[in-house]
This record gives sequence, structure tokens and C-alpha cells, in this order.
Amino acid sequence: MTEPESTEHETPVQDDTIRKEDPPVSAEPEPARSSAEPRSLAGAVTPAKEKPEQTGHTVTLKSVDAYYGEQRAVRDVDIEYAANRVTAMIGPSGCGKSTLVRCINRMHEEIPGARCEGHVLLDGANIYGSGVDVTAVRRAIGMVFQKPNPFPTMSIYDNVAAGVRLTGRKDVKLDERVEQSLRGAGLWDEVKDRLGRPGIGLSGGQQQRLCIARTIANEPEVIIMDEPCSALDPIATLKVEDLIHELKRRYTIIIVTHNMQQAARVADTTAFMLMGELVEHAETQKIFTNPDDPRTEEYVTGKFG
Ligand code: ADP
Repeated sequence: MTEPESTEHETPVQDDTIRKEDPPVSAEPEPARSSAEPRSLAGAVTPAKEKPEQTGHTVTLKSVDAYYGEQRAVRDVDIEYAANRVTAMIGPSGCGKSTLVRCINRMHEEIPGARCEGHVLLDGANIYGSGVDVTAVRRAIGMVFQKPNPFPTMSIYDNVAAGVRLTGRKDVKLDERVEQSLRGAGLWDEVKDRLGRPGIGLSGGQQQRLCIARTIANEPEVIIMDEPCSALDPIATLKVEDLIHELKRRYTIIIVTHNMQQAARVADTTAFMLMGELVEHAETQKIFTNPDDPRTEEYVTGKFG
């Protein structure tokens, strides 16, 4: 399916796109948030330096359906993405993995005719609730795409700084944020002497880490990665996988992958989808060695897919 260029250039959309006749989501009271983590989706996300490690953010999906016009691509999915854990989404091509994760940061609704129903909660707050700022949702739940997509006309520095500049925040020390983000993405030492050079001059693996740095610069709480290594060579893939291990100390990570070895390497838990449904979600080791559902076993042992 087509990939959006970036999350930073989206047009604002209505925030009441989630619909379910019974009951309407926006009419429901929002579940209580943890008093330890007062936060507002409509406002800025928690500044990184105030965010202690291991204090993460959960994403909960309840009865999520996703449609393209009349076609239902995701059916009645319930899943909880635990804080500071890596969850892999696996399943055969076309089973709805990308569609599902795009419901989590409200990217799905950008496709004409597409809609999402059900509940998506970030730390208990409904991201489709009325009054929720879609841009704030996408900053809190960042996304890295399959194909590295640095802004083609921008330097390395500007690629990382772009999202922060768009916020118009005057309190952010941009040089510090750029360095911190590039360090966080494991790229600083490779690019610190050429920050003014074009982002697209980097290798594919570096470009993908640049995109991760761009995501980190926005201080997200959750990072979704949609097949982030499928365009990378094995060495670049390993670097990104190592990075994922680092990043989960600060972020909750959801990774779509068609590569089961990758899921086994990076994910704490793995969710298996089939024909739009979530078949099973469990500890990765269990999914690969002793799954509950025979369809999961058939898939992970290569009988189909
Ligand atoms: P996966 O990520 O598991 O490969 P997708 O979420 O991309 O699966 O696709 C799930 C289903 O939705 C497929 O049947 C696919 O053809 C359909 N689909 C995906 N993108 C679009 C789109 N932009 N318009 C219409 N149908 C789509």
C-alpha cells in the first residue's frame, strides 16, 4: 500500500472519525488515567528529560475494526501493548498488520474512504476522543516506515529538527535536541561532522536511523515501526534491531515484520494476525514454541504464509 511521506505534513482531520453505532465512543466517559502520569493528548507530550526510564506508556485496543470503504480489513481486535516492551505484529501479507498499526496513530483515516471503529487508548485516554488533537496523537505515537523517507531537500540536521520546528516551540534548544535524537538513534558519531549535508546522501540503513532520530526528536511515547528493516541489508538490519533494544528502555514499541526471525530476535511479545483478525498474542517464545492456536503453529512453522 502507499506510504505517506511523513507524519509531519499531514493535513488536520476531524477528530471524531471513530464511529460505532453502539455505543458511540465520543459519548463514553474516558477511562481514568493514572494520577502518577497526568498528561493530555491535546497538549505537548512529556518532555524526555523528565521522563524516567522504565516509566512507559501502554496502548490498549478494544474491538477495533478498520475499513477501506465497505471492505473490512481489521476485525474486532483487542490487544494491549505493554509499556517498555517490544511487540511484534506478524502474519501473512494482507492480513491487516499495517492497517491495524495505522489505526493506533490515526494515520489510517488519512486514506480516502478509510475509517476505524472501536477504542484505541493511550494510557487510558481515548485517542479518538472529541477534542483530541490529531497532531498531538501522531507526535505521541510516532511512526517509522518501511522505506526510509528522509525529507529529500533537507540536510541531516534539518530532517531531525523538522518536527520540532513545526511545533513552533521556542523553549526547545534545537542543537541539543538534534544531537540527543541522533545519539538516541545510534547515528551521531557517523554524521556529527556532516550535519549540513543532505539526508538522502546517507546509506539506506543510516537513512532509516535518521528517520528514527526524526521520530525521537518529537519526544514520542510510543514508536510504531512498519517493517523498518525490509529495505535494509543484514548489517543495517542488525543495527536497527540493536537500536530497538535500546529504545524500549524509553518507549513502547510496536513493530510490524514479515520476518519471523526478526520477531524472535527483537520482540518481547508477538501477535499473530490472520485475515484481519488477531489470532493470538503472547510472549514471543510461546508464540514460536508452544502457541495455543493451531493456525499460529502452522504459520510459524512455515506451513503457509
Ligand atoms: P499487511 O500489512 O498485513 O500486509 P495490510 O494492512 O496492508 O496488510 O492490508 C490489509 C488488507 O487491506 C488487504 O486486503 C489490503 O489489500 C487492504 N488494503 C490495504 N491498503 C489499502 C488501501 N489503501 N485501499 C484499499 N485496501 C487496502
